Amino acid sequence: MPPENQTPTRPETLVVRAAVGTDSAYGAVIPPLYTSTTYTFPALGEVPEFDYGRSGNPTRNHLADALARLEHGAGAVITSSGMAALDMVLNLVPVGGLVVAPHDLYGGSHRLLLAREKQGRFRVRFLDLTRPDAPARLRKAAPALLLIETPSNPLMRISDVRALSAAVHHGGGRVVCDNTFLSPARQNPLRLGADLVVHSTTKFINGHSDVIGGAVIARDAAVMEELAWWANCTGVTGAPFDAAQTLRGLRTLCVRMDRQEDNAKRLAAFLRSDERVRHVYYPDGEQALAQASGPGAMLSFELSGGLEAARSFFARPGLFQFAESLGGTESLICHPASMTHRAMDAAAQTKAGITPGLVRLSVGLEHIQDQLAALETMLGQIVQGETV
Ligand SMILES: *Cc1c(COP(=O)(O)O)cnc(C)c1O
Repeated sequence: MPPENQTPTRPETLVVRAAVGTDSAYGAVIPPLYTSTTYTFPALGEVPEFDYGRSGNPTRNHLADALARLEHGAGAVITSSGMAALDMVLNLVPVGGLVVAPHDLYGGSHRLLLAREKQGRFRVRFLDLTRPDAPARLRKAAPALLLIETPSNPLMRISDVRALSAAVHHGGGRVVCDNTFLSPARQNPLRLGADLVVHSTTKFINGHSDVIGGAVIARDAAVMEELAWWANCTGVTGAPFDAAQTLRGLRTLCVRMDRQEDNAKRLAAFLRSDERVRHVYYPDGEQALAQASGPGAMLSFELSGGLEAARSFFARPGLFQFAESLGGTESLICHPASMTHRAMDAAAQTKAGITPGLVRLSVGLEHIQDQLAALETMLGQIVQGETV
C-alpha cells in the first residue's frame, strides 16, 4: 500500500485503477463478476458485509466506489438508469416542497418532474438558471431542491454552480447537479458547491452505448446512507452485469474524452465558419471553463434554414448514426425537437430555445477528417431552403 499522501486523485489514474487488484481469492487483476443474489451468514447473530443482492453486490460496489472517488463524494448508489438516479434524489424533497429546475433540461427529467408534481408529490418551478438574477430569485424562493444541468441539454448553457448553490444553501435547500454531459473527467460539481451529483452512466461513463445505468453521488455520508436506504427499499439498484460492463467502459473514460473533445473542438470551429449554420453551441467560453477542465464532446448548432434545412440535412446521415443518446465511441447526431425533447410541448420547447433547425451532435472517435467530410456532406444536402 502506498503511503496516504500518495493515494492517486487524478481522474486519469482513478479510472484505470477502478477495482483493479482487489480480488482476494486468486489475485485476479480484474475482479470477478459476482452474480450471486444471496450470501451466507458466518454465524448466528453475525451479519456479513453482503447479504442480499438488492441491498449490496461486490461488483456494483466497485463501480460505486470508483464514481464516488472520481466525484469527491462520500459514496455512490448505482441505479438501473439515469432516470432512476434522479427519481431517487427526489425522495429527499418533503411532500409539498419546492423543486426548481432549469427550463431547458433533459426531456426525460422534465417529464419526471411534471409527473411527480401532478401526483401532488411536490411543486416544480422552471427557471432560466443562466439569468444574472437567478441566485437572487433562488434566495427568495428557497427551494428544497435545485436541479442544475450544466452544460444544459441541448443548448450547452452554463449555470454558475458556485453562486446557485450558495443561494439555495442560504434557504436550507439542497443542490443536485446532473453531470452526464461532461462526466467527472471534466467537471466535479461537488467541488463547486453542489450536494449531490447524478449521472446517466449510459453516456460517457460507460461510453460504448451498450448499458443503461445511473448513479447518485453525495458529498455527505448521512445523505448517502439515506439514498442507499431508498435504493434498497424501492429496488432501483443496478444489475451486477451492467456494473461490470460499466467499470470496463469507465477505465477508458479519460482517453475517450480527450480524443472526442479534440474532435469536437475541430468540428465546432468548422461549423462556426459555415454560413449554412446560424449558431454553434459549444461550451468553450470563459464562463464554461471557469468550472470545467474542458468543453467536452457535445455540441449543437442551429441550421440557418430552419426545419426545411433540417429535413434535407438529415435525409442521409451517412457516417453519423441518426440516433438519440450520447457519449458513445461512435458519433450520434439527432434532432432534439422531434427526438430527445419531443416529450416537451411546443410552448416549453420554444421557451427553452429548442427550435426546429437545431441539431445535436455527440462527437465520437472516428477520424476527424471523416467526421468533417460527413458534416460537409450533410450540409451539402441543404439547397437554399429546399428539400433535396
Ligand atoms: C440520458 C440522460 C438522462 C437519463 O438517463 P437514462 O440512463 O437514459 O435513464 C438524464 N440526464 C441527462 C443529461 C441525460 O443525457
